[in-house]
Amino acid sequence: MNRFTWQRAVIKVGSALIAPEGYECSGKYLLSLARFITASREAGKEIILVSSGSVAAGRSKVKIRHNASIAEKQAMAAIGQNLMMANWQRFFDFPCAQVLLTADDLRDRTRYVNIKNTLREILKHNALPIVNENDTVAVNELKVGDNDNLGAYTALVAQADTLIICSDIDGLYTADPRKDPNATLIEHVSKIDSTIYGLAGGAGTSVGTGGMRTKIEAADKCTSSGIQTLIVNGRKGETFDTLIDGHVPGTLFTPSSTPANARRLWLTHTLKTAGKIVVDAGAKEALVRKGASLLPTGIIDIIGNFEQGDAIEVECEGKVIAKGLCLYNAKDLTLIKGIKSKDIASVLGYETAEVAVHRDDMVLY
Ligand code: GLU
Repeated sequence: MNRFTWQRAVIKVGSALIAPEGYECSGKYLLSLARFITASREAGKEIILVSSGSVAAGRSKVKIRHNASIAEKQAMAAIGQNLMMANWQRFFDFPCAQVLLTADDLRDRTRYVNIKNTLREILKHNALPIVNENDTVAVNELKVGDNDNLGAYTALVAQADTLIICSDIDGLYTADPRKDPNATLIEHVSKIDSTIYGLAGGAGTSVGTGGMRTKIEAADKCTSSGIQTLIVNGRKGETFDTLIDGHVPGTLFTPSSTPANARRLWLTHTLKTAGKIVVDAGAKEALVRKGASLLPTGIIDIIGNFEQGDAIEVECEGKVIAKGLCLYNAKDLTLIKGIKSKDIASVLGYETAEVAVHRDDMVLY
């Protein structure tokens, strides 16, 4: 079995575990997982859940005999979402925090930054973020569509180092284990290519399992951004004991680079610089020596007309020392430059964050 280490994980739990009968939330398969979540948090690790089940939970409350229409499914999601949340909350004595997203939210730069800040803040307050697609408002074109890919997007926005997909099968197999007795589990995938996609089969008609294709897509998105991905069988209680021991009882997809490296490359090379922030020597010292975030108080000047979430360069005494994502737009940053963080709200009438550029979003040169 492969070993793995992690610090911040997104755990994706599918309907097969939440609603094994297809129409009601159940705790049947969740106890071992809940124990894993609690034990990991006590060990100082951070977890974000991506949970399905709203439509299934709502189905038991919406009495229709025909195939549900879109509006009916959206009503089921609205009714079922809080049943699903309540089903989780009964396992924990810390708060569960509901986060509903659509593909559109993840594409919009300002909302993307806000999602990231909110997740960071929820974790800071020791609550458990539980993410689902906002099925009630999302129409098909605006949907991520499946929670495997939503799990990958969540791992990216939350800067997790690991995505754990809990399925009802042990992992990726060489063939469909339900049909082929010679099928063997693939314990390690270091490169996701057409052969691996071939093993997953087409959407819905997979040879591996029902939704293996979207799981490979999710692993592909994550590993190419430095996030390791696991597919494990969430229906087996021992899965989570093995995970606690640091072993992968399923398939491990290893990333091509470390998350820090992938992010560094993305920040440095992919993102176009939209402006510049000039800082004083004190701020430079804090950034370089202490690995601190950039506070408004150390900012002397703002150059360019950038938006919130844009990439900017940080300059001190004529030299570029860092590049990062700015949490305020140029206009507002000009208003708060040089002031103490506690005064941001009184100057702007709002406060996105106490810092102008968070250290997680910054690379030093
Ligand atoms: N968002 C859907 C639900 O909560 C689930 C989608 C999926 O499992 O892929 O019912």
